[in-house]
Amino acid sequence: MSHQRPRFPARLGAGAQGVSPAPAPVVSRKGAPSARSEVRSGPSGATRPAVPRSTGLGLDSAAVRARMVQRLAQGGVRHPAVLAALSAVERHRFVDTALVNQAYEDTSLPIGLGQTISKPSVVARMVELLLDAPLLAAGGRGRVLEIGTGCGYQAAVLAQVVAEVYSIERLRALHEKARANLRPLRLANLHLLFGDGMVGYARGAPYAGIIAAAGGDAVPPAWLEQIAVGGRLVAPCAAADGVQNLVVMERHAGGWTRRMLEPVLFVPLKSGTA
Ligand code: SAH
Repeated sequence: MSHQRPRFPARLGAGAQGVSPAPAPVVSRKGAPSARSEVRSGPSGATRPAVPRSTGLGLDSAAVRARMVQRLAQGGVRHPAVLAALSAVERHRFVDTALVNQAYEDTSLPIGLGQTISKPSVVARMVELLLDAPLLAAGGRGRVLEIGTGCGYQAAVLAQVVAEVYSIERLRALHEKARANLRPLRLANLHLLFGDGMVGYARGAPYAGIIAAAGGDAVPPAWLEQIAVGGRLVAPCAAADGVQNLVVMERHAGGWTRRMLEPVLFVPLKSGTA
């Protein structure tokens, strides 16, 4: 497998939308701890887990995270790749220092500018639903677009389980924050974009999946246009009664199937950039 990044322009033509190839271009096999390195640690304990860079808070993040993953599994998360990804990605790196001790609770937390990092159980649920897309099930590792990078946590999780991730954020300050959070993880297959995700990201299309971390009243048509046959959309969307539900749409050769699942509470999908 090549770790070369696809060649994309440094900046898109229209407006403020631009591409920031996220973290360092090469996946390092040694050296700085990466999100992946923990997954490879042996059950015998012979291979030590990657030591998290000190948070200065004495948090034994690997053990606390393992308990979080155990609770998720007990709560019904089944997909081994999803559980492995949630074990590998250090959620405490993505939240403010004052919230670090809550990083492995199943709760959403503020990340600034009125936005939140999603609950781990919701991230797990949505990524599982995404991986059930025919193009991604059976080991297919396709391209995925995430709408709403926020602090970058879910993007890092996605980068563990699919081949390429494009993640777009409309708030510049959060886009920059995600870049800073993700840099040490050196995820060469994750590409951060600054722009309005309502229009998707046509240059990366077609996608095996689109996953949205912000919800509107309707699914933007561009998202559907950019999904391949056999691909899925997983997104919060308001129903007629105004209650937001998780919606899964799957593209078939002859059209779409649409399922409305449990109620959820996501920040609003907004147009434009700021
Ligand atoms: N996945 C994120 C969750 C962030 S909250 C995480 O793991 O932290 C949802 C994010 O969606 C917010 O940062 C918000 O600014 C962003 N958002 C809302 N509308 C958007 C749009 N049209 N395009 C891109 N991002 C959008």
